Amino acid sequence: MNTLLLPPSAGNIFTASRILTQGGLVAFPTETVYGLGADALNPQAVTKVFEVKGRPASNPLIVHIKDINMASELAHFDEVSYELAEHFWPGPLTLILPLREHSKIAENITAKSGYVALRVPQNQTFIELIESFGRPIVGPSANLSGKISSTTALHVLSDFDGKIDAILEGDNCLMGLESTILMYDDPKLQILRLGCITKDEISTKIQDLAIEASLEGDKIPTPGSKFRHYSPDAPLRINCNEKSNKEVLIGFGELKGAEFNLSISGDLDEAAKNLYNLLRTADNMVKSQDYSGIAVSPVPNIGLGLSINDRLERAAGKISAKSFIK
Ligand code: AMP
Ligand code: MG
Repeated sequence: MNTLLLPPSAGNIFTASRILTQGGLVAFPTETVYGLGADALNPQAVTKVFEVKGRPASNPLIVHIKDINMASELAHFDEVSYELAEHFWPGPLTLILPLREHSKIAENITAKSGYVALRVPQNQTFIELIESFGRPIVGPSANLSGKISSTTALHVLSDFDGKIDAILEGDNCLMGLESTILMYDDPKLQILRLGCITKDEISTKIQDLAIEASLEGDKIPTPGSKFRHYSPDAPLRINCNEKSNKEVLIGFGELKGAEFNLSISGDLDEAAKNLYNLLRTADNMVKSQDYSGIAVSPVPNIGLGLSINDRLERAAGKISAKSFIK
């Protein structure tokens, strides 16, 4: 299969939407990371997403929709989730909601959990694709299962060249980290995945509500957090103030001797945006040059730094090794 690289013109968005209609796979930019899209109402197309990613069928997929109205056709909203959606959509928030019985969503999307993960994206190219297609689009991150997410069309191409129909190009991912996943489980709001929206931003909007992080997903259906994730092929050490002589060092803040830097000025937004690109670049250097592994400097554990550290810890295999299924 020849994977088309489609710059974001109206004609190409139409081509991408036709490919989806015919059951094909199209990767697309979002404000978080690139997604790998298929028609959410077509179970065969959804199966292909699992296959090309090498993703276990037990790990459900996020469904992208145009707005709250389209979301309400698929899932039941409680008051808190509705308020969150009104405030944070379009944007990097994913809500886990009870699936409507007659939603027509392909069964293999939800791992038959009875819940669906929904998000209204902000990226203009992707919004136009959803509008042109007119139906919900599944969109897990466009990377091989367990490996580093993609923030450019070239990252996607390096994982899926010849395996998917097309890659819709667009602005590279503005934020660079996945969405924050929330589920309201009366009386608490649970953070199932840390992401672009921080706990502080959520609590400013939703007051008088207990917010807890439940990142292992053992109480509620968030199997994704149990899987190995974001991993380079090369060995990765984190919280390193210095490197061994054969490591590629990715620094944070002013640091001498680092090959790369997440953000010289110590800006967490910039670090999030650079994270996956630098991990991929360093990983390729270990493969092609005389390096033994990757070391990353400490990143402050505040605000967005909590989400960055969550990704780094999972990438280094440090979070709950016992619960890694893969
Ligand atoms: P990604 O595939 O990288 O976009 O990650 C999607 C995340 O959303 C994974 O952690 C999934 O386990 C989680 N997820 C998707 N759908 C559901 C669902 N129906 N219930 C719970 N978690 C979900
Ligand atoms: Mg992913």
